[in-house]
Amino acid sequence: MTNNSILRLAIQRKGRLSEDSLSLIKESGIKFSSDTAKLKSKSRNFPIEFLFLRDDDIPDYVADGVADIGIVGENVALEKGKNIDNLRKLGFSKCRLSLAIPKEIEYQGLSYFQNSSIATSYPKILKGFLTKNNISADIHEISGSVEIAPSIGLASAVCDIVSSGSTLMSNGLKEVETILNSEAIIIGNQSLSDEKKSILDRLIFRIESVQKGKNNKYILLNAPNHKLEEIIKLLPGMRSPTIVPLADKNWSSVHSVINEDEFWEVIENLRGAGAEGILVVPIEKMIL
Ligand code: ATP
Ligand code: MG
Repeated sequence: MTNNSILRLAIQRKGRLSEDSLSLIKESGIKFSSDTAKLKSKSRNFPIEFLFLRDDDIPDYVADGVADIGIVGENVALEKGKNIDNLRKLGFSKCRLSLAIPKEIEYQGLSYFQNSSIATSYPKILKGFLTKNNISADIHEISGSVEIAPSIGLASAVCDIVSSGSTLMSNGLKEVETILNSEAIIIGNQSLSDEKKSILDRLIFRIESVQKGKNNKYILLNAPNHKLEEIIKLLPGMRSPTIVPLADKNWSSVHSVINEDEFWEVIENLRGAGAEGILVVPIEKMIL
């Protein structure tokens, strides 16, 4: 596009992606007016401009270069997207694209869908799935309220986005196959200028630091010196833990970083090994 010294990021104006997309940018230290009643906004402290759009339009705008990058669900990127790069998973707006059928039907496998009619807003992804499984079915493309299709006789199954499954259930449907697991991702135009690429690298570096911070906790604990060696072995840490002597010369304070995934197990082991006064502190950003 015209201005090479600014990166244009398209985000959903209003919907399930908006809030988390905006918070991620804010946590990356990028200041801007998030008044999404406007269609455009420019950052005050980073070379980035925001376009607030409907999520369905974002892949095309990114492919055409109207926007340089965008935040969308993988479901939308795969359905609408051609000629775009999938740059990074963002870990929010998790959901799945699934096949669902009336709940009173006993499901005996994919053969149920042979010669069936399926209502969906995701004809491209669905077609790919059916072809891969050698199933021929009628695909009814509808743009919303897909889940009512079976009860009005429009289709014998649906292929739709599910998170808790409660919408399906309240429409008398049950989920029987998952086609795709989806989360928000950053997509990018395939021919960004070097200047835009370097702004993008700076943005991704910030986003990674925020994500790592969220996935890790800072931990402080007191340990009797004769147990120190055993306790240190239990701590992963970035390099090795910090050890600070306490006023009581038989005790030390140990500081380290623990990943969320192994958090509870490590804490239990630490207590078992004699650690006391364990404090756990959130990390705002983590730069390795
Ligand atoms: P738009 O008006 O921008 O077209 P929309 O109604 O198509 O919005 P939303 O319902 O806001 O879309 O969903 C946006 C994206 O959020 C979906 O494409 C999907 O990736 C994800 N998503 C959908 N449903 C859920 C859910 N229940 N929980 C979490 N994420 C979801
Ligand atoms: Mg949409």
